[in-house]
Amino acid sequence: MKIINCLLDKNNALDINGMSLGKLIEQSGKEFLWSDRECDTIDVIVVHYISAVDVTPADPYNVKTIMKIFCDFSVSSHFLIDRGGVIYRLVPENMKAWHCGGSRMPHPDNRTAVNNFSIGIELMATAISGFTSIQYDSLAKLALLIENKYQRKFKLVGHDMVANEAVVNEGLRKDIKVDPGQYFSWSSLLKRISSLREANVCNSFE
Ligand SMILES: [Zn+2]
Repeated sequence: MKIINCLLDKNNALDINGMSLGKLIEQSGKEFLWSDRECDTIDVIVVHYISAVDVTPADPYNVKTIMKIFCDFSVSSHFLIDRGGVIYRLVPENMKAWHCGGSRMPHPDNRTAVNNFSIGIELMATAISGFTSIQYDSLAKLALLIENKYQRKFKLVGHDMVANEAVVNEGLRKDIKVDPGQYFSWSSLLKRISSLREANVCNSFE
């Protein structure tokens, strides 16, 4: 399975309005938009959506604009899946990406600081766009690749499950997250993952 490396670090030459992405990161005083993990076991995948709809409403799925948003807000996720199912790797899986903020896993897990033990995957979508069938395909394949790589089952959660009102009330964060939201079909994703498992597709990262 092809994954395009586009790491959020100072060496990234992707041109964004005449300046490299790496330079943008350096200007923010950082070398990369990730940090060391503070635990050994990674066993959660967090699904998000992201778009540039607030910056360029006429072109919400422009990958460069979205990459710039990560830099502008000093946030990151391990993977980004575009509307055509193309997967970009933005942060190495062994590092901690900054995608969840203050967070707590649903009961009975209850662990906090979900970034520490999770892989963040962003799907290009807006609050109302829904998701494309090929995005579900890529997400399912990627989830299985991650399980195969780490040789364990991962819990799949949405950002909205780990950064909800209860987490705000607890004082772990200020804002409620709603992604991937009501238009994301967990059953579509889980169905695809089961059929891939049944087909015993043992793929690997390129
Ligand atoms: Zn999110």
